[in-house]
Amino acid sequence: MKRMRIGIIDVLYDMPPSNGGYQIYRNQLRRQFVSIMPQVISVWCRRMGHDVHYATYYGQAEPHTLLPDDLDILFVSSYTQASALAYALARIFGARGTRTVIGGPHARAFPADCQRFFDLVVGNCDETVIRDILAGHYAPGSIIDTGRTLTEIPSVEERMPELRATTLSARFAVLRVVPLLSSMGCPYTCNFCSDATSTYHAVGSEILKKDLQYIADNIPGAYVVYHDPNFGVRFDETMAAIESLPPKQRPAYGVQSTLSVLKEERVRRLADTGCLYIAPGVESWSDFSNKSGKVRATGRDKMEQVVGHFEMMRRHVPGFQVNFVFGTDADQGRAPVELTSEFIRRVPYAWPGISIPTPFGDTGIFTEYLEQNRVLTQMPFALYYKPYLNFIPLHYGAMEYYESLMEILSSIVSLRGALSRLTTRNLLRIKGIHMVQLTGVYHDLRRVRELYRLLKGDALLRRFHEGLPMKLPAVYEARTWERLGRYAELFQLADLIPDLINTSCKRVSSPASVNVEVATSSLGVA
Ligand code: SF4
Repeated sequence: MKRMRIGIIDVLYDMPPSNGGYQIYRNQLRRQFVSIMPQVISVWCRRMGHDVHYATYYGQAEPHTLLPDDLDILFVSSYTQASALAYALARIFGARGTRTVIGGPHARAFPADCQRFFDLVVGNCDETVIRDILAGHYAPGSIIDTGRTLTEIPSVEERMPELRATTLSARFAVLRVVPLLSSMGCPYTCNFCSDATSTYHAVGSEILKKDLQYIADNIPGAYVVYHDPNFGVRFDETMAAIESLPPKQRPAYGVQSTLSVLKEERVRRLADTGCLYIAPGVESWSDFSNKSGKVRATGRDKMEQVVGHFEMMRRHVPGFQVNFVFGTDADQGRAPVELTSEFIRRVPYAWPGISIPTPFGDTGIFTEYLEQNRVLTQMPFALYYKPYLNFIPLHYGAMEYYESLMEILSSIVSLRGALSRLTTRNLLRIKGIHMVQLTGVYHDLRRVRELYRLLKGDALLRRFHEGLPMKLPAVYEARTWERLGRYAELFQLADLIPDLINTSCKRVSSPASVNVEVATSSLGVA
């Protein structure tokens, strides 16, 4: 195979470049959110002897300027909220004759929509798939999926050029982040989560040990962020690998895990091995209690037990984030709002991450909501993020929903909340990160208030949120164009209205075997 010029870009931000106060956020936090798979593909392409250009976009410059103009192939990784920028890259590089390939969360969630812009769409892949793509073995229009999660990825040592280009290059960075995996997939089946459909695999402990030893020897001050959807499912095996390093050599690290995994003796073991940050998901006070380890508890009982669990964990580990999803079908009335607000007040040392259920194409709620006509099908993917509602909540009208969300967000930014977060016993670095996150919540709250005001004064907008078939309201169209900046001229509005129907068909007819191509024309056939 001839030596090819290959570009790989990980789109981490969903807006045109910006300066001002945002610079601190993007340099300290946003640029750290790199995905591992684009780095893996970069390593594989380099192993095959190609000329590889890897970049991440976090708002620093127009994304198409971050790569050379004359690429043979461009791989783009994007999440759904940033997909309009990914589509713009496909248009720009496609017009230059570059073959364009999309992977990552958006490609897995909405492959049929991606197919409208990219030559190839890749879900789960492996080195053989990438080799075949480079060799031109897939026809334009193919959706490629091995149907299984990867079990092994290139070592940290092999990923060093990519790490040096991203997380390890930040000047004056608070953290020198090394993203790592000790497992892939998750055994739980939360219906709002894209990881619920992936098979769980632990990374071999010898591989993990080797990576950790390399980090200890070569990356001073590294902070390992485990990207496992659910760290520690095979707890003893993973911890044995971490404990194989002498205590002084173990890099500090952070994990996201379920409360059911985080029993006291385990939390102590995490702390003893350098764990500084844990991010468990509580999600809802009325559902998902099995993963919180509170199988029968709901409502206030569950809240009291979770507060107790955090008090226990705090005796050992300094930093926490706790994740909630507000507006699942289990949520109704005032109870979720009051319990979440109370929890936020009582546990000020844990950063509260509040999200809105979003019907991504590879989640259980997508199929459910679509069947129940509860997906707002006209909403562009650029607005698939908080505070935009892309579905009709079962127990709340849009205005009531936003009133409740305002109350929850207000409890985070209240003076009392901010002060107790500042004065709580915590590492200075963690407090600093929580303060940067606080500015994001102020911003969210402003947008929720604005949407609430718009809904109050616009009956047609309210009808849109009740599911009345109509074209996209002007306010959402304007927001979508804003998010594209100069790239807006590449699109008509119709380009940005999602193709959800074919995504739904693709899910039904999705191949389970390895390296199967699904041609465009067969997508509608269940
Ligand atoms: S436990 Fe976490 S990672 Fe696993 S399916 Fe539920 S939300 Fe997703």
